[in-house]
Amino acid sequence: MAEDRLQFHEMGLDDRLLKAVADLGWSQPTLIQEKAIPLALEGKDLLARARTGSGKTAAYAVPVIQRILTSKQSVREQDVRALVLVPTKELGQQVQTMIKQLTAFCSRDVRVADISGKADLSAQRPILMEKPDVVVGTPSRVLAHLNAQNLSLHSSLEMLVVDEADLLFSFGFEADLKNLLCHLPKIYQSFLMSATLTEDVQALKELLLHNPVILKLQGSQLPDSSQLQQYSIRCEEEDKFLLIYTLLRLRLVQGKTLVFVGAVERSYRLKLFLEQFGIPACVLNSELPVQSRCHIITQFNQGFYDYIIATDEQSLVDPTSARQTTAGKGKRKKSSEKGAGKSKDKEYGVSRGVDFQNVSNVVNFDFPMTVESYIHRVGRTARADNPGTALSFIAHTELDLLSEVEEALIGENSESALKPYQFKMEEIEGFRYRCRDAMRSVTKQAVREARLKEIKQELLNSEKLKTYFDDNPRDLQLLRHDKDLHPAVVKPHLKNVPEYLIPETLKGTVNPLLGRRKKRSEKLKPGGVMKSSFKKNIRGKNPLRSFRYSGGRNRDKKGKKAES
Ligand code: AMP
Repeated sequence: MAEDRLQFHEMGLDDRLLKAVADLGWSQPTLIQEKAIPLALEGKDLLARARTGSGKTAAYAVPVIQRILTSKQSVREQDVRALVLVPTKELGQQVQTMIKQLTAFCSRDVRVADISGKADLSAQRPILMEKPDVVVGTPSRVLAHLNAQNLSLHSSLEMLVVDEADLLFSFGFEADLKNLLCHLPKIYQSFLMSATLTEDVQALKELLLHNPVILKLQGSQLPDSSQLQQYSIRCEEEDKFLLIYTLLRLRLVQGKTLVFVGAVERSYRLKLFLEQFGIPACVLNSELPVQSRCHIITQFNQGFYDYIIATDEQSLVDPTSARQTTAGKGKRKKSSEKGAGKSKDKEYGVSRGVDFQNVSNVVNFDFPMTVESYIHRVGRTARADNPGTALSFIAHTELDLLSEVEEALIGENSESALKPYQFKMEEIEGFRYRCRDAMRSVTKQAVREARLKEIKQELLNSEKLKTYFDDNPRDLQLLRHDKDLHPAVVKPHLKNVPEYLIPETLKGTVNPLLGRRKKRSEKLKPGGVMKSSFKKNIRGKNPLRSFRYSGGRNRDKKGKKAES
C-alpha cells in the first residue's frame, strides 16, 4: 500500500463528496484515482487505460461531480452537464449507483439519470425533461433521445465520459457514437476509459480528446502476484470435467467463483454435469433477459450462489472473428451461438462492465480467445485490495492462446505470470468413472432442452422481475436462478462422494455428504446472506490457496486440514 499516495482530502474536493467517500469506506484513492482526479480537476482531457476493478468509475465520477458542484455555485440553472456513455445496461446501472453513492450528501445539487436500461423512449422522456446533471446511457439510446428532442446537449454539456470505450466498438456502437458527437458543443472536457488501447480507441482519442494526458498505469493490467495468483493446468476435454468436479465437490475451490466457458452450449453442458453431483450453479449469458442477468449478479453479490458459469463475451459478440483454436473438440463457436445475435450482444457485457463483487476465483474452463478477454475475465477477482486466484484449464488446442497471454503478461524479471498448478491428476483417477457416467447423461438433447427451458423460465422470471417484484420486494429473494434444469437425468447416487474415492492427501478435509443441498433455513440468514456451517469453518482462508494441492507422497497426511 502506498503510504505517500495523495489522499482524497488533499485533492480540494467538496466536503459533501469527501463525506460520501468516507461513508463508502474508501480509506485512500486507488492508483488511477490518485492520478486521474487531480488532472481532471485541472480541466485536462484524459485517456486512461483502466480495467474494471481499478476504481475507474470514481476516477471520472469524482471530478465530474466536483465540477458540477463548483459550477452550481455561480450558475444555478438546471441543465445536463455531463454525459457518460457506456456499452451495456448493466454498466449503466452500476455507474448510476456509484454516482448516487458519491452524491449521497448533495443529491439535490447533482442529479443523475440512467437511461441505458429501459425499453420505452417515451417513458424516459419525463426523466430527461427534468434535465438531470448527469445522464448515463448507451450511445444508441442517447442518440435516439437526441433525435426525438427529448435531450439537448449542444449548449449545456461540459463533460463527456466514454467508459469501456473498447467495448463500445466491439458492440457495434461506433456509428451511433459518431452521430452523437454532432450533437455536442465545440468545447467540453472528455474522459476516455478503456481496458485496452486498441486502434479503435486510438482513433476515438483523435476525435474526442484535445491534448489529453494518457494514463497507462502500471505495466500490468492485472494486480501483481502478491494479490492475484494465476495458475494454469494442462487438461484435455474429459479431464476438464473431472477436474472441475473434484475442485468444486471437494471444496478445493473456496469462495465465490466464476467459471468461464467458450460457448453458451457449453455453459449448459457444464451446468447439467454439475447438477448430476448436486452442485448448483447459475448460468449467465446473453440469451437471458437483462432483468434476469442483473438479478443473478445481484444475488451472487449477496452470497446466494457460489458458482456462476459465464460465457465468454468476445466470441458471442462476433463469433466469426474469434480464432478457431477451439477447445473441446471444436465446439466453442458453433452454430449454437446463432441465437445470440448481435442486437442482443450490444447490451451484453456479462463478464465485462458488470460489477461482480468479492469474487475469490476465476476458473477458465475454456481458455479465452484473446489476451484482452483473459484480462477482463481474470480482472473480476482480486479487486480493490482483495486477494484472488485465477486457474486456467489448458487443452492442447489452447496452448497457443496460453502462450500469447503469457507473453503479454510476462513480469519485469521475465517471470511467467501463470504458474503451473501442481495438481496430481492421477490422484483423482478414482472419480473418472463417475464423471463419465455423468457426462453420458448430459446428451446433446439434454443440453438443448435445458437451454430452452432456462430461456423460457427466465423470460417468465424477467416478467415477474419487472412487475410482481416491484410490488412484493420481499419475495424477490425467493426467485433463484440455480435450480436444476434437468432433474430427470440426475442419478441420485452421484450426489455423494464415497469415502474410498477421496484422495489420501485430502482424507479428513472433505465431508463426503457435502453433496446434499442445504436447507433454505440454513442458507439464508435474515438479510439474505448465505452462511452455512461449512462456510463458517473456512472463513478467513485465502481462497484456492488451500487447493494448492501438491498431492505428494511426502506430504503430511492431514494435508490442508491443518490449516482449517
Ligand atoms: P470500478 O473499477 O469502478 O468498477 O470499481 C471497482 C470497485 O472498487 C467498486 O466496487 C468500487 O466501489 C470500489 N472502489 C472504488 N474506489 C475505491 C477506493 N478508493 N477504495 C476502495 N474501494 C474502491
